[in-house]
Amino acid sequence: MKLSGRNYAFWFCVGSQDLYGEECLRNVAEHAQIIVRELNASGALPYPLVLKPVLISAGTIHQTFVQANEDPACAGVITWMHTFSPAKSWIAGLQANKKPLLHLHTQFNEEIPYDTIDMDFMNENQSAHGGREFGHVVTRMGLFRKVVAGHWTHQAVRERIASWMRTAVGIVESRNIRVMRVADNMRNVAVTEGDKVEAQIKFGWQVDAWPVTELADAVAAVSGADTDALVEEYYSRYEIILDGRDPREFREHVAAQAQIELGFERFLKEKDYHAIVTHFDDLGTLKQLPGLAIQRLMEKGYGFGAEGDWKTAAMVRLMKLMAADVPNAKGTSMLEDYTYNLVPGKEGILQAHMLEICPSLAAEKPAIRCKPLSMGRREDPARLVFTSKTGPGVAVSLIDLGTRFRLIIAEVDCKANEKPMPQLPVATVFWTPKPDFTTGVEAWILSGGAHHTAFSYDLTSGQMSDWAEHMGIEALVIGKDTTLRGLKQEMMLGQAFFR
Ligand code: MN
Repeated sequence: MKLSGRNYAFWFCVGSQDLYGEECLRNVAEHAQIIVRELNASGALPYPLVLKPVLISAGTIHQTFVQANEDPACAGVITWMHTFSPAKSWIAGLQANKKPLLHLHTQFNEEIPYDTIDMDFMNENQSAHGGREFGHVVTRMGLFRKVVAGHWTHQAVRERIASWMRTAVGIVESRNIRVMRVADNMRNVAVTEGDKVEAQIKFGWQVDAWPVTELADAVAAVSGADTDALVEEYYSRYEIILDGRDPREFREHVAAQAQIELGFERFLKEKDYHAIVTHFDDLGTLKQLPGLAIQRLMEKGYGFGAEGDWKTAAMVRLMKLMAADVPNAKGTSMLEDYTYNLVPGKEGILQAHMLEICPSLAAEKPAIRCKPLSMGRREDPARLVFTSKTGPGVAVSLIDLGTRFRLIIAEVDCKANEKPMPQLPVATVFWTPKPDFTTGVEAWILSGGAHHTAFSYDLTSGQMSDWAEHMGIEALVIGKDTTLRGLKQEMMLGQAFFR
């Protein structure tokens, strides 16, 4: 996994018992080998499966889960009950388990062999029976797991396993996220605040404050040669829109961002942080608000939140990790709900920020522009400007309700801008929330969602709600099936359940 530097694998654990004899157990082991081999060869799964010996006793089951916990490369355990596996044997193991768990409810054969089926076959191939016994005990123990039912050769089943693997990596990696918080929360803003201790208990995030002076020193220490080399890279990679500025003066503004990018990245690496929070009102001796610099860091996989918003910074990092291996990934970024188009039939929300939108979203080659900022008291910052890809995406907002967290997850449909916006010097996305503009927006407001979101084209509401469920927090999905009545009832249930 390129962003975290870890090569994850998933353990495939098959449950059985010795009641049906040696031959049956040999067949179970052989079937498991075939499934693991074919799933690994299919190219459908982002991470390899590692087959473990067939589990038939409480002792070996417990030992297997303990070993899974101790293996940092194991991102999750997939269980399959080939035969009936008495579930009391699983209690100690499940109690010990700390890894994400998927119950693959499949069977080796796709079709009932009508002409030859006998009791031996039934005893050997009784996932329908054994899977229920296993499911019962996991439910009784109140443990979170994903259940995927269907034949292991079916594409839909493989895609669901693949999707869950990415969620599992998000669950495992959440404990490794470290956010560098430069400057406090923006004065008087409510929704970006939150309980950092509780976030560390719930999600494992370490959120630390660092003085902007130390970052500014790291930026000042970057050599002119290094800065020039990066400016050259910018000029070869991006379009340049001078907006009438003198080319040499423009280049100096761009160089200020290059120096910030290098200084910030070195400082983040040295201190081992994977996400950063800045604030336009607390810049020390930095010449510009980090714009282009932050955009580039986000593209490299760092999380980012603006105005002290560490929750969004951590979510952006988390979602970048979850989406890291998605083939032909379309992008993940922090975004902000800015302004509406309310023309009937064309309703939508223009997403942007002052500067900091990740260029992974770009539909075309980004352009560098350098324009004044209405807020902050610094030089005109250079930033990358572009319009974004179209298609479905998911936008999430993690909010602190005072006594608990809630993750609001919106399914959105990203659309092409109706017209160009030549006077707008920032990157944008335009989307319509599901199920429709009015319901989606009203549901977001009612659920308390923020103006900042962590957004990805490459993840689904199902993956994000599974992550939240595993973390033990409320997840509210605003999607194609949402009604306001239903949402209110869900929030009332959440209020009672998540105390
Ligand atoms: Mn903002």
